Amino acid sequence: MDLRGKSVIITGASSGIGEATAFQMAKKGANVALAARREDRLTKLKERIETETDGKAIIVKTDVTIKEAVDRLAEKTKEAFGSIDCLVNNAGVMLISYMKDGYIDDWMQMIDVNIKGVLHCIHAVLPTMLEQDRGHIVNLSSIAGHEVFPTSNVYSATKYAVRALSMGLQMELSKTGIRVTNVSPGPVRTELPSHITDDRVRTKFISNQEKITLLEPEDIANGIVHAVTQPDRVNTDQITIRNKP
Ligand code: NDP
Repeated sequence: MDLRGKSVIITGASSGIGEATAFQMAKKGANVALAARREDRLTKLKERIETETDGKAIIVKTDVTIKEAVDRLAEKTKEAFGSIDCLVNNAGVMLISYMKDGYIDDWMQMIDVNIKGVLHCIHAVLPTMLEQDRGHIVNLSSIAGHEVFPTSNVYSATKYAVRALSMGLQMELSKTGIRVTNVSPGPVRTELPSHITDDRVRTKFISNQEKITLLEPEDIANGIVHAVTQPDRVNTDQITIRNKP
C-alpha cells in the first residue's frame, strides 16, 4: 500500500525521526503537514520533499505545548488536504538529569512537550478522524518507556505515560476505523541529547553513545511507514526497535 492522497501531520518534523518520517511518507505519496518551532528547518524539508518526491507539504509553525497552536495545525491541515488520515505524535525532548540536582524546569518542559503536547495533538485530530471513521495515530514512546535508567526518571515517566495513552486509546477506539500504534525506539542518532542542560550528564550520555551502534532516524521512519501502510485489517499496536549491539 502506498500513501498517495493521504494527509499526515508530523510533529517535530524539523529534525531527527520526525524529519526522516515526513520524507519517507512523502516518498510514498503522502501530503504532509510539517510541524515544529524552527520554521527555517521545516522550509528546507518542504523544498526537499517537493523536489525529490511526489508528495505535497505544508509548513505550520507549531509549539505543541500551546493548545491553540495545535488546533490551528489540525485546521490548516484539513484546509490544505481535506482530511487528517494520520498523526505522527513525535515532538519530544529528553532533558535528563539526576533528580537530586533539582532541574525542575526541565522536568516541567518534558511533561509539557512529551505528555501535554501529545494530548493536544490527539485532542485536535480525534473529532475529524471519528467523523471520517478512519485514521491512524502513531505515538513516539521509547525504550525509556519500558525501562528506567539512573538519570531518566522524569523522561521515562513521560514515555511510560505515552505508552499508557496509546494502550488506552487503542482500547477506546477498537470498534472504530482508527488505528493506534505505539513506537518505542532504542538509541537513535539525532540531536535529542544535545539539548540536555546538565553539562556532565550531557557529556557522559554523548560519549556513551559513541561507544555503541546507534540506530538511524530512517530506521524508525521505516517502522512507522510499515505500520501505516498495512491493510485496514492489520493493527500494529506496538513496535519496539532496538539497536543491534
Ligand atoms: P530531535 O531532537 O532530533 O527532534 C525532536 C523534535 O521535537 C524536533 O523537531 C523539535 O523541533 C521538536 N520539538 C521539541 N519541542 C517542541 C515543541 N515545544 N513544539 C513542537 N515541536 C517541538 O529528536 P528525535 O528525533 O530523536 O526525537 C523524536 C522523538 O523520538 C521524541 O519524542 C523522542 O523522545 C523519541 N525518541 C528518541 C530516541 C533517540 O534516541 N533519539 C529514542 C527513543 C525515543 P523544534 O525544536 O524545531 O520545535
